[in-house]
Amino acid sequence: EFGEVSLKDIDQLANSSFPLCMRHLFEKLREEHHLKHGGRMQLGLFLKGVGLKLEDALAFWRAEFSQKVGSERFDKEYAYSMRHNYGKEGKRTDYTPYSCQKIVSSTPGVGDHHGCPYRHFSEENLRAALGKMGVGGRTMDDVMDKVRNRHYQLACTLTFEAIHASSCDAGINHPNQYFSDSQKVLK
Ligand code: SF4
Repeated sequence: EFGEVSLKDIDQLANSSFPLCMRHLFEKLREEHHLKHGGRMQLGLFLKGVGLKLEDALAFWRAEFSQKVGSERFDKEYAYSMRHNYGKEGKRTDYTPYSCQKIVSSTPGVGDHHGCPYRHFSEENLRAALGKMGVGGRTMDDVMDKVRNRHYQLACTLTFEAIHASSCDAGINHPNQYFSDSQKVLK
């Protein structure tokens, strides 16, 4: 279902094809060199879904976390659960990337960056984040209208359509679907 992506392309892909929930986690990770558990799970499984191989994923997380906690602590405390997400440890369950429904209904606490921005951001922060993605004018109003009516996935779909100048008839129901639909449009 999914292709393969390499680590060197990840920033460019985040910028062009990640939905807002994953952009936000990606930016926070780059900024703070750390994400709490909920964020590591949401972004980590998404990255697995877009086709980042385990070795690249470990290199990606280690490069950030080592700046904050040191690489020794990363290897001791975090690498295991990363391998676990890829089914390489423990019960060897192959964990599936989270759907929008699961993300929208999550309950991020203080200091958490996971969740769905359409659902969990303040109006002010959401407007700022959408502006950074190039959403404005009439589309901004339409998106905020969907948000007020609690149609978060429709708000995300409108965002997708605006920044890709392409329709998304099926609507957005999974961050990895957003990614693959985006790649289809851009290729
Ligand atoms: Fe992410 Fe889905 Fe929310 Fe879009 S609607 S930001 S893909 S959780």
